[in-house]
Amino acid sequence: MPISLTVGDIVEMKKQHPCGCKNFEITRVGMDVKIKCLGCSKIIMLDRRTFEKRMKKFIERKNEEVE
Ligand SMILES: [Zn+2]
Repeated sequence: MPISLTVGDIVEMKKQHPCGCKNFEITRVGMDVKIKCLGCSKIIMLDRRTFEKRMKKFIERKNEEVE
């Protein structure tokens, strides 16, 4: 089931980034999802499916909609 993603959402990933940070900001949503590490600002691109598998939860959502 697709998760609704919005640019600006902050997510926690299951695996932490090598810099030790687990929280990422979504910077692009499409076929691929770009996320920016909030620890070191590195941008990572994942295909949507991989992203959804690796994401743990939302920390902050831009668009609070019906869940
Ligand atoms: Zn990092």
